[in-house]
Amino acid sequence: MCKAHRLDEEKSRERLHPVEPVGYPEAAALCGAVKCEEPGLLWLNADELADYERGVRVFYVPSGAIKVGVK
Ligand SMILES: [Zn+2]
Repeated sequence: MCKAHRLDEEKSRERLHPVEPVGYPEAAALCGAVKCEEPGLLWLNADELADYERGVRVFYVPSGAIKVGVK
């Protein structure tokens, strides 16, 4: 989701930490909100943030959080 369309309230309580997909803001990952074509951020929970800080750079996304743009 982009910064304007945070995850729904329940998910946003645990997913507080936005990180930028590779290539952001020209990345293929777009906000999952209907009709929004802004670049999508990945919102990590605390466990994922700990992984990120250890160097992990591949994460799954909550269903519907992003969609993919194509050339
Ligand atoms: Zn959006």
